[in-house]
Amino acid sequence: MNEASSPDTLPGETTAQEWTTWGRTHSVTPRHVLRPSSVPELAEGVAAAARRGLGVRAVGAGCSFSALPLAPDVLVDLRDLSGVPDVDVEGQRVTVLAGTSIRELNEELDAVGLAATNLPDSDWQTIGGAIATGTHGTGLGFGSLSAQVEALTLVTARGELLECSEQERPELFQAARTGLGALGVVASVTLACEPSFRLHAAEIREPLGQLVDTLGSRMAGADHFEFFWMPGTPSAQTRILTRLHKLPESYTRPGSPVARTVRRLDDALLRNTLTAGLNQLATVLPRSTPGLNRFDALTNSPRQYSDLSFRVFTVPRRVRFVSTEYAVPVEELATAFRALQTLIERRGYAFSLPVDVRCSPAEDPWLSPAHGRETGWIALRQYWRRYDPKVFAAAEQVFLAHGGRPHWGCVHTQDAEYLHSVYPRFQDFLDVRAQVDPDGVFLNDHVRRLLAL
Ligand SMILES: Cc1cc2nc3c(=O)[nH]c(=O)nc-3n(C[C@H](O)[C@H](O)[C@H](O)COP(=O)(O)OP(=O)(O)OC[C@H]3O[C@@H](n4cnc5c(N)ncnc54)[C@H](O)[C@@H]3O)c2cc1C
Repeated sequence: MNEASSPDTLPGETTAQEWTTWGRTHSVTPRHVLRPSSVPELAEGVAAAARRGLGVRAVGAGCSFSALPLAPDVLVDLRDLSGVPDVDVEGQRVTVLAGTSIRELNEELDAVGLAATNLPDSDWQTIGGAIATGTHGTGLGFGSLSAQVEALTLVTARGELLECSEQERPELFQAARTGLGALGVVASVTLACEPSFRLHAAEIREPLGQLVDTLGSRMAGADHFEFFWMPGTPSAQTRILTRLHKLPESYTRPGSPVARTVRRLDDALLRNTLTAGLNQLATVLPRSTPGLNRFDALTNSPRQYSDLSFRVFTVPRRVRFVSTEYAVPVEELATAFRALQTLIERRGYAFSLPVDVRCSPAEDPWLSPAHGRETGWIALRQYWRRYDPKVFAAAEQVFLAHGGRPHWGCVHTQDAEYLHSVYPRFQDFLDVRAQVDPDGVFLNDHVRRLLAL
């Protein structure tokens, strides 16, 4: 760590450099960067910054596409605050430091025969960052990472450590389980998990119309259901994951499972590299996109495989993109998807990455986009070099017409007035925030707009 030497230096300060989101959507050069390697050091640095009237934002891996993590004053880089200090194998829970990546968490859990119940499709995010935005996977029976949080420790602007759970400070707990980084810095999180299990994956190409017509039963009939649709094509790729806990390790589903090494090679080399290549070609020749999509769709052939859960939930990513994603009530999902399809086709929008459709159960955290309702998710992705915000803005109108709630970490243009109308506990969140951070130390411009502060 490079210690800065000015008299203004904060405890635990390191040299400030430009910080950029993975999707290259936002960047900032903070005035100060703290890189604590212990919870007391974190608390000391945050309190010192707050005493000087500086704003503080914690960052994880920068996997958000929105301006949520931006820290113009004091950026708290939590990458050294990682690891799993406490494992309760019998109670099936672990306490993990907030800067731990999902990948590290998976490895630590696997080493003691445990696993996360559900995961997003990438393992780069940190636990603190993932729960701040309600990061989710898919499956109507299996909630987001925020829903798996049993307790957490929050560092306030005064450097206090507040423990919260269902029993202790329950209101702060429901707010902080998806806290947008606006309540304080989460230092550690206790997560419910379960014994290691294997997942069987089936990836099949299906006619789109028929799939959307039967979407409700398809989602209800699978443990983890999702589908991908390449605009310009008449079919979709479904991905159906089945939990194999009750079956012996040696069990192999009928068919021809793809071996792990072959699958990873296939994902990394063919699917990612081919998609990257097609995107580069489409950047130079935009009118070729629908044809290239049809070619890409053809090359993603059906396959099935099984492996440890975390190796199947997450997929390798090589292609940089920008994403918007909305959560709609699950009963609105098919209608919202069809409206989006019509919009894309009528306006001739060229997407060279698939639209992704997933689902979640209703959950408690007040600002989880799945709060209080079974949810269908629709994500749109644009190759980062061809990112056109107008296309996402048009899609947002479709989602708003269906009561959509934006993914906090993805691109969106909503403000407090709209968010109030779709989150029944929005005012409760504002009240808790005002109590725990009355001076607004943990706000940035983006959060001020979201919360009308
Ligand atoms: C390749 C890729 C795949 C993705 N897949 C999915 C997916 O499958 N499902 C899904 O729901 N989302 C997905 N996302 C979005 C991503 O999960 C979220 O944006 C997530 O919040 C990013 O976590 P991060 O660690 O990078 O946090 P950052 O983006 O760095 O920060 C996100 C927010 O967390 C806050 N924060 C970070 N650490 C703390 C802390 N310790 N205390 C308080 N606040 C904190 C920040 O202030 C900020 O507000 C994906 C993103 C990418 C780039």
